[in-house]
Order: sequence, then C-alpha cells, then structure tokens
Amino acid sequence: MESGNHSRCSRCGKNLPQGSVKYIMKLTITADFDGFLEEKDTGSLDTEALLSSIHEKTEEELEDEVWIERVFLLCQECRNKIVHDPLNAGDPSMEGWVT
Ligand SMILES: [Zn+2]
Repeated sequence: MESGNHSRCSRCGKNLPQGSVKYIMKLTITADFDGFLEEKDTGSLDTEALLSSIHEKTEEELEDEVWIERVFLLCQECRNKIVHDPLNAGDPSMEGWVT
C-alpha cells in the first residue's frame, strides 16, 4: 500500500504536488449489529451450521465483513463531489449524518 509521499488523487489521478490543497478521506464500514438474532423454529440457534459456515472463511474475510477501513487522498474537486454525493447515488440529499 502506498503511503507517505504519494501525491495523486485516489479518485481522478490528478497530481497533487507538495503544498497543493488535498484531502484525506477515511472510509470506515462497520457491521451494524442491532442485537436481533433470528431464531430457528426449534427455538435455538443452529450453532453447528453457523460454526461450519464461519470456518469456510478466512479470518481476514470475516474481519472485512465486520469492519473495513480505507484511506484515500483527494483533490479539492473530487472532495467536493464526494461530499455532495458520497454514495454516488446521484441524489444530493444523501449526505449522511454529520457527526
Ligand atoms: Zn481528484
């Protein structure tokens, strides 16, 4: 993974020389566990099936399903576009929550 001195916009590839306006975008996606577990008709979870399905995946895959973070460097133009339509949904009202 690139780090440190890289100076290109992650989105459009534009050169971002030292001293130019640039932005770091961190994308974090975490599983939103709401505490609800679906119970089978038997009233208990099929833990064996659950465990075997987990074992089919690598630890890394499982982690990615729960938590994933990516970091991007953006030029001002791309930053403005992403702020107004982060999900690329073509809907300017989808700006998300301000935290
Ligand atoms: Zn750009």
